[in-house]
Amino acid sequence: MKNECLFCGIVAREIPATVVYETDTTLAFRDINPHAPTHVLVVPKNHVRDAGELAEAGLADDVIKTAKAVAVAEGIAESGYRLVLNTGPDSGQSVFHAHLHLLGGAPLTLQMG
Ligand code: 5GP
Repeated sequence: MKNECLFCGIVAREIPATVVYETDTTLAFRDINPHAPTHVLVVPKNHVRDAGELAEAGLADDVIKTAKAVAVAEGIAESGYRLVLNTGPDSGQSVFHAHLHLLGGAPLTLQMG
């Protein structure tokens, strides 16, 4: 594998994923282990590690706008959805290429921890 980062590999189309939306700066694809009827990950195409670096790179707006576009395309923009940015080990972040979880399609419970 050319890319050691899993999500860089998906962005480069070296690793298969179900891509649902793409812009110049972002890619959205379905989570391999969905926790809701709609569970899509939105990533910046450029590698940044986490939410802090995403903001510093000026890419947070792009990622949130892509999430909104996906929510509209999935038909969940009106019923509502949740956006989650796990950041760092205590949050449970397991892939260290920033990714925004878009969850929706059913009423969601709030689980802490
Ligand atoms: P985190 O726990 O870092 O916030 O979220 C990482 C997410 O990436 C998890 O929800 C996990 O299911 C998802 N994931 C891990 N490996 C793959 C993969 O190879 N393909 C896709 N589409 N999602 C993945």
